[in-house]
Amino acid sequence: MEGSHKNNSTPPAASAEHDLQWQKKSASQQKTYARMLQRGDKNKMLKQLPELHEEAFSHINCLNCAACCKNYSPRFKTPDIKRISKYLRLKESRFIDRYLQLDDEGDYVVNQKPCPFLGSDNRCSIYEVRPSDCARFPYTNEDVLINRPRITLKNSSFCPAVFFVLEKLLKVK
Ligand code: SF4
Ligand code: SF4
Repeated sequence: MEGSHKNNSTPPAASAEHDLQWQKKSASQQKTYARMLQRGDKNKMLKQLPELHEEAFSHINCLNCAACCKNYSPRFKTPDIKRISKYLRLKESRFIDRYLQLDDEGDYVVNQKPCPFLGSDNRCSIYEVRPSDCARFPYTNEDVLINRPRITLKNSSFCPAVFFVLEKLLKVK
């Protein structure tokens, strides 16, 4: 799926009771979110995003989560492949052979789950040069969040930051 971490097969597992709670709520709100994204005042919602993005990540720590890196793959576009293979001092072809595979849509994605660059401490070993999809994820400060409802709804099922922002947007008057 364009502009999103890609599903590597099974959905992410909830790791704690509170995860189950918000994931359950998110699942029950999908139609409400879809309606809001389709019919809501886009300009008003867009204006709120920077603040809501900050607020979400002021209390969500990705290092305690990593649900995206554990269960989905970013796309590795040509500039990503060039940059990362150089960083790893690998030939591009060697990098592709070792870490990537083509998916049904012709995009390069990681060939294993979790992402091979994710450490046991949930840190990304190629953070400085990570794929653009990873740097932008979960799009909570981009118009993608409003303009690509399908992606946003999927992401709201496993990313607590997307859930947080959508819940707050519901309250925008
Ligand atoms: S971006 Fe979302 S899913 Fe990924 S680690 Fe952060 S909170 Fe978790
Ligand atoms: S490259 Fe890094 S940020 Fe991107 S999915 Fe892998 S571990 Fe996560």
